[in-house]
Amino acid sequence: MKNIKEYDLEELKKQLVLLGEKPYRAEQIWNWLYREKVKNIDDMTNLSLELREKLKQNYTMCNFKILKKQISSDGTIKYLFDVLDENAIETVLMQYHHGKTICVSSQIGCKMGCKFCASTGINFIRNLTAGEIVEQILAVEQDINESISNIVFMGIGEPFDNYENVMKAIRILNHPKGINIGARHISVSTSGVVPKIYEFANEDLQCTLSISLHATNNEKRSKMMPVNKAYPIEELMKACKDYIAKNNKRISFEYALAKDNNDNLEDAKALVNLLKGMLCHVNLIPINKIENGQYVKSSNENIIKFRDYLNEHGITATIRRELGSDIDAACGQLRRKNLKAEE
Ligand code: SAH
Repeated sequence: MKNIKEYDLEELKKQLVLLGEKPYRAEQIWNWLYREKVKNIDDMTNLSLELREKLKQNYTMCNFKILKKQISSDGTIKYLFDVLDENAIETVLMQYHHGKTICVSSQIGCKMGCKFCASTGINFIRNLTAGEIVEQILAVEQDINESISNIVFMGIGEPFDNYENVMKAIRILNHPKGINIGARHISVSTSGVVPKIYEFANEDLQCTLSISLHATNNEKRSKMMPVNKAYPIEELMKACKDYIAKNNKRISFEYALAKDNNDNLEDAKALVNLLKGMLCHVNLIPINKIENGQYVKSSNENIIKFRDYLNEHGITATIRRELGSDIDAACGQLRRKNLKAEE
């Protein structure tokens, strides 16, 4: 049986027609799923009992089970969700003054192999489906009984290595008759899968594109991020410029600061040179320590110096708040789990 949340509205209409129903029923179902946020087909009370039975025979609701919920001293909540196939993924809810942001996972595991990230040290299992990505938002909203305002694709996985499903999930989440989260409130972060950046530039979407840069020369970046060997910095920058030209939108470059690695003034200068004249913003992330990780967080003093240098030289830069590090919910600390094997 297929998860009913795998369909966009047009597809759901076609499904209803196949079941011998009128297409407008799909809009009613859509309303129950994404506005009323019900967990059971039986709760869709304006559908006939007969139709509800038909739906139950053909579709699952794929409600994720919360296996664990940890709350940080800063209010960040980390969920461990059972994705119903012996695997579990993590999703994080962050509270900002401007609203609640969910950090969603796009894959079970990750293939990219970034040396500073815990999501990737364990084997890649599979892509999450669009419905499973959407379900992370629904499950959190059902748990807190509140709507969230922003989504960042910065959990486990490389969104551009699961491009189709991520784009479909965005269109479902963004739909005005559904959860209706504005594309401007959705950010997608990539380690730099260049061909997909070109594709993304051609989508008719106003999402924010974030690029995990972390270093300004190929030698250093390849050591931190193997993806750089396939798509070196020059190619990455070319793709970013194409995106900016086509969309006239600012790119957010993520730069995780690691002590004695990429955090001195020479690095800041090189970053200014690389990004000079580009419509962009730099998001500095104090690197979070991971198990067996070789990188150590820069000192606060260096982080501030680095930010100030960028700002004084025409590149707007901010320091990302470190949320949830006490419960391993901060950038780079999320991991998939296997429910059978003890990991
Ligand atoms: N796969 C996507 C999303 C990753 S998470 C990507 O690579 O962009 C979002 C950000 O956190 C990325 O910029 C990622 O490089 C960064 N990150 C990963 N591990 C980190 C760590 N230990 N400390 C700080 N940032 C980290």
